[in-house]
Amino acid sequence: MYIEHLSVKNYRNYTSLEVTFEKGVNVIIGENAQGKTNIMESIYVLAMAKSHRTSNDKELIKWDEEYAKIEGRLQKRNGSLPLQLVISKKGKKAKCNHIEQSKLSQYIGNMNVVMFAPEDLNLVKGSPQVRRRFIDMELGQVSPVYMHDLAKYQKVLQQRNHYLKQLQTRKTKDETMLLVLTDQLIELAAKVTIKRFAFIEQLSQWAKPIHHSISRGLEELAIKYKTTVDNVSEDINMSKMVNSFHEKFEKVKEKEIERGVTLFGPHRDDLLFYVNGKEVNIFGSQGQQRTTALSLKLAEIDLIFSEIGEYPILLLDDVLSELDDYRQSHLLNTIQGKVQTFVTTTSVEGIDHHTLKQADTFRVVSGS
Ligand code: ATP
Ligand code: MG
Repeated sequence: MYIEHLSVKNYRNYTSLEVTFEKGVNVIIGENAQGKTNIMESIYVLAMAKSHRTSNDKELIKWDEEYAKIEGRLQKRNGSLPLQLVISKKGKKAKCNHIEQSKLSQYIGNMNVVMFAPEDLNLVKGSPQVRRRFIDMELGQVSPVYMHDLAKYQKVLQQRNHYLKQLQTRKTKDETMLLVLTDQLIELAAKVTIKRFAFIEQLSQWAKPIHHSISRGLEELAIKYKTTVDNVSEDINMSKMVNSFHEKFEKVKEKEIERGVTLFGPHRDDLLFYVNGKEVNIFGSQGQQRTTALSLKLAEIDLIFSEIGEYPILLLDDVLSELDDYRQSHLLNTIQGKVQTFVTTTSVEGIDHHTLKQADTFRVVSGS
């Protein structure tokens, strides 16, 4: 798929912008603080209804304005698809094919994007929360069912934590409600964990050969999903998972009441990355961490293609200059001809690869 036309209004430092893009590679050139990332972000937000760099939607609205609007005409295998997202101080409204979507979870997934930005280094060395967010966003775009289950899980988790707090502070002594909420939580926790586990297995299969190749055959990447319940393996099924959770929660009940918080579940899970058997976040060099993050992102492109039969749009913000020539070429050769790609750079000197020389270029100067 590719985005053919983008129009934004009151988005960050853009008052109004209309651009037609190339199906292949688009290079966005501009000095610092001119609005390169903002364009990339607007494309990401149009797809995901969320920014990659902030969870506060109000920041996306141009200062002193009431709302921001992003519109795009997407070209997909089966024709053109107009998308619209309006962000106001009251919330977000999305339209797909001119029809207002009652749920954002239904809207997400119409357009697929993969963003690779300097912050993605945090995927490897940042907190577990960053990795959980990565899984949720990426899995969410290919599985609306997952998004739905996850939202329900988070809601029940909140209710359960609230109830545990009441037991902790002895506002109530009745544990019946806790049992009901625990059952509900376990059902959803099992669904979410199983989907995440399968997703990571799949992503890992795509990432391994990519990493091997980017590291010139020197490194073996392994990715593991780390859960708080034991015995999670390939043959895990719902009933086994539910049983494991029941056992766990039984054991920690008193501790949970004492602390007033849910101690187990997907909200505490993590991802582990190993290069040649060693944990990358602990032992990996800066370059190895970057290669790991890059392999993951490139794997996502393949995974999305295998799931939906179309390549996503790739957004490379500020990353080319961070990669050495070999990795840069590898990246550009991989995407060439099949993935619509957006690349930002501060100067034309940065573009010496033939893929970039043939690309359409756009110059950004203070929001236009
Ligand atoms: P760099 O090369 O440093 O990454 P950039 O071209 O990517 O720069 P952007 O991150 O796109 O720059 O930001 C451009 C400008 O947008 C910044 O000066 C920032 O202050 C401004 N900006 C950010 N949010 C808003 C907003 N809500 N309203 C108006 N301007 C904003
Ligand atoms: Mg930037």
